[in-house]
Amino acid sequence: MDRIVLKTKEFMPRCLTTEQSAGAVAGIDLGSTRIKVVIYNGSSYIARMSDAAWDPEKTALELLAETSQEAGLSAPPRIIATTGYGRRCLATATITFTEIATHAKGAFFLVPGCRFVVDIGGQDAKGILLSSDGHVEDFVMNDKCAAGTGRFLSAMGQALGVPVDHLGAYAIGAEPHRINAMCTVFAESEVISLIHQGVSRNAIIAGLHASVARRTASMVASLHPEPPIAFTGGVSQNADIVQKLSKELGHPVIVPHDAVYAGAIGAALLAWEHHREQDKKEC
Ligand code: ADP
Repeated sequence: MDRIVLKTKEFMPRCLTTEQSAGAVAGIDLGSTRIKVVIYNGSSYIARMSDAAWDPEKTALELLAETSQEAGLSAPPRIIATTGYGRRCLATATITFTEIATHAKGAFFLVPGCRFVVDIGGQDAKGILLSSDGHVEDFVMNDKCAAGTGRFLSAMGQALGVPVDHLGAYAIGAEPHRINAMCTVFAESEVISLIHQGVSRNAIIAGLHASVARRTASMVASLHPEPPIAFTGGVSQNADIVQKLSKELGHPVIVPHDAVYAGAIGAALLAWEHHREQDKKEC
């Protein structure tokens, strides 16, 4: 799951010395299920991820140290920017950004020109409307209920004995069996009862995916999403949900490489801009 990716230059510092411009920054997304770290030096980034575990601060610091070493940093990152569900639990963070700001920034970097972002992570789902230059115009978010999130899918996968990263493969091409329950607890009972009735796992999983896609499309409908639409967060790795969400929205959704790192990438890019602003003031 860990990967290293080099990206082309996006932000070029204008008034920094070579030495200053080498000062990399870090973006850390402390998610509900996974922690992602991105080190960015103005021209390329390195991204790593780890399960959140029971001590997110310790996990984040260890991952930051590993990623910094991998990036060949001779000094700690100049700025450590955090985002995500646990963004306030890192005492050494220099700056904190909201998830909407970082996911918008990261998605626009990964899918240049996108006008809408759907992000479905472990604990929430959000839709973000962007201007042509990538600024947030409006957003909607479900962070009150697990239904329609990665946690819902993980719970259903457990009930069905299918790992969450295999759900997509089971469901593709299957005729969805309608799932009526919206609540995670009731949906779990419904799934167990369907298994006892002999309904195939593939049809049940396809039905669950259809319900996540319907729920997400109805949540973002008031923002009238128009293409290009970027789909980010862990659930974007489920190919069947990608298909069903595209159908519900009436437009294809684009899943960029590193879609799961969008929040951490956005935090690193915003940190870099912040660092550039600071240096301009000092120039
Ligand atoms: P968070 O930032 O809250 O930790 P993520 O954006 O990392 O959330 O998404 C985590 C969710 O993504 C998990 O709950 C799981 O349902 C889903 N997920 C993770 N990996 C995969 C995968 N390979 N295929 C499909 N779904 C996945």
